[in-house]
Amino acid sequence: MVASVMWFRRDLRLADNAAVATAADASTEVVGLFVLDERLYRPAGANRLAFLSRALRDLDRQLDGRLVVRMGDPVEVVAQVAEEAGADRVLCAADFGPYGRRRDDAVSGRLVERGGALDRVGSPYAVEPGTVLKADGSRHQVFTPFFREWTRHLDPDPIPAPKVTWVEAPSDAVPDKWDGNAVAALPDATEEAAERRLDQFLAESAVSYGTRRDYPAENGTSRLSPYLKFGLLHPNQVLVRLGDGPGAERFRTELAWREFYADVLWHDPCSARRAWQPAMRAFRADHGAEADRLFDAWAAGQTGYPLVDAGMRQLLAEGWMHNRVRMITASFLVKDLHLPWERGARHFLAHLVDGDLASNNHGWQWVAGSGTDAAPFFRIFNPVTQSRRCDPDGEYIRRFVLELRGLAAPEVHQPWRAKGGAPAGYPAPIVDHAVEREEALARFREIGASARQVRGPR
Ligand SMILES: Cc1cc2nc3c(=O)[nH]c(=O)nc-3n(C[C@H](O)[C@H](O)[C@H](O)COP(=O)(O)OP(=O)(O)OC[C@H]3O[C@@H](n4cnc5c(N)ncnc54)[C@H](O)[C@@H]3O)c2cc1C
Repeated sequence: MVASVMWFRRDLRLADNAAVATAADASTEVVGLFVLDERLYRPAGANRLAFLSRALRDLDRQLDGRLVVRMGDPVEVVAQVAEEAGADRVLCAADFGPYGRRRDDAVSGRLVERGGALDRVGSPYAVEPGTVLKADGSRHQVFTPFFREWTRHLDPDPIPAPKVTWVEAPSDAVPDKWDGNAVAALPDATEEAAERRLDQFLAESAVSYGTRRDYPAENGTSRLSPYLKFGLLHPNQVLVRLGDGPGAERFRTELAWREFYADVLWHDPCSARRAWQPAMRAFRADHGAEADRLFDAWAAGQTGYPLVDAGMRQLLAEGWMHNRVRMITASFLVKDLHLPWERGARHFLAHLVDGDLASNNHGWQWVAGSGTDAAPFFRIFNPVTQSRRCDPDGEYIRRFVLELRGLAAPEVHQPWRAKGGAPAGYPAPIVDHAVEREEALARFREIGASARQVRGPR
């Protein structure tokens, strides 16, 4: 008998899983392990914990009820499970985040001490972070050339789910309370549901993705993000079926943004926590009681700007927000309320079911103008113009801001202009966008930001 351990982390599926396929090839018996690591679940937020616990339940079902769940420090737990199973080899998909890399090096060290090995096979990405380089071997800091080079590395060959003999071992339970505190609207957390979602997107929305993706009232985007986040679906499974045409091309580009941000984080692990552009670290943001009051209004969807409020309420209701609205609500926090992007990023991560350090924090830095290839600082979304453009009839707004259900366009975009004033219960705008726009530009000028922003080492 040759045994190995398959250590699942952000790859909770059997199809197209290179590490599972390698474990099945190399061993007659495999222990499927998931470690409940406090370092990861403590900051996860109720929606991600619930999605994770449901995904683990589904994986356990697929492993004939033999998924081994252990609570504790992975450095201790993985070595212990390997020893119990008599396995030299532990397989997993590589992790490229700052904590994941440190953890895996420590786990590998412990296994090697005991005569074993940690084999990192595959990753949650189509192209592993750190792989896409310029001709001179340096990394890319700008998305478009990264994307061109990234497409040359794609090789999405499907890997069928192998036949594996999963073996039993003592297991802890996933805490029941993880499943209890989430929003009701979470998507089904199964590998099958991920495939169904992909089928539906390819059949119904992929062709028009390029033109419909910016309208939050529509079903124009894939909503695959939670599945990609937890690896119930691998990007290769999407890429191999995507086909050609403008919609498919645009979708490939968006998948590449996920990979670009993972690549940025791999090269600059600090970029998740502080402004990537050194000049932007001196940007003056507000703190204190008034800042707290504005933050609370933003977080509760009570800013008086309907599209911003609809987005923030969608986040609270569904644990998800449409991409365009993420950009507009983030811009409002940073450029209209002058609050630190890190504070908004933390709030998003606490609620998003797809919350991902690389995509979220670099998405925030893009909006704040402090990241790689970021929006220029002088691009300040006007929440009313954006509302008219992305939600012309106000359908998305009325779905989440119930006080405005009686208003049609154009008043729904500016309820303070409605006949008789805004409906009862809906707040007046907490700030004047025109005034705050000038204030934001003045603060950017304070740190010498110019139309040619500094790109530079972090
Ligand atoms: C401030 C801000 C915070 C964000 N936080 C996250 C986050 O925590 N997790 C996350 O997965 N995405 C994040 N995004 C990116 C994007 O908003 C979501 O990926 C997208 O809304 C998910 O919905 P979808 O699956 O329908 O996307 P689709 O439009 O169908 O895109 C398909 C996939 O491409 C990837 N993708 C699309 N746009 C982006 C992007 N701009 N950056 C990185 N990947 C992208 C995602 O994996 C997505 O599932 C953030 C964007 C902003 C502006």
